[in-house]
Amino acid sequence: MSNNRLEFASELLGQPLAASEQVASLFPFKLSRFLTDRMRDGTYSLAAARQYLPDARELIEAPASIFDPCNEGSFKVADQVIQRYENRAALIATHHCLVYCRFCFRRDFVGYKESKIANDALESGVRYIEESPANRDVLLTGGDPLALPNRQLIPLLQRLSAIPHLKVIRVHSRALSVQPDRKRLGDALWLRA
Ligand code: SF4
Repeated sequence: MSNNRLEFASELLGQPLAASEQVASLFPFKLSRFLTDRMRDGTYSLAAARQYLPDARELIEAPASIFDPCNEGSFKVADQVIQRYENRAALIATHHCLVYCRFCFRRDFVGYKESKIANDALESGVRYIEESPANRDVLLTGGDPLALPNRQLIPLLQRLSAIPHLKVIRVHSRALSVQPDRKRLGDALWLRA
């Protein structure tokens, strides 16, 4: 079996490598080692694996396809902050992930080099939450916050933990299922935050 992850994905899907390459040139593709090993040893079903594997059918543009179908842009209240409910805010900490799921925003903005979030923008989002006492709950999201290196994630968690009106910090991550070692690290970070 091939060592190259794109070749491996093509073999699993039974589609030509050229088709996988074409999809991966348009939309981000990444498989963690944990998932690759499980797919290789047959302990991960193909049905579940398909959510990460570039499929030639993605090249077909659906006529009804729209950007931002949940209209999240209209709930943006500050850089990196989406506020749908008055006491809960979502802080978009990164646009990168440990894997890229076909059902997610990878068609639009997640996973691209140019989607890197500027430090100033994240700082301005954190400041908004610090200055909004109505917020009791913050959801750290992205992308996957656990795709951030510890040197960025730890200070961010510590900063949020220090906000007196925040009672809950949630982290929206797939690390537990796609890269569990990273999750254990995340647990350690929680305890220290
Ligand atoms: S944000 Fe979550 S669901 Fe979306 S591509 Fe990243 S890991 Fe997958």
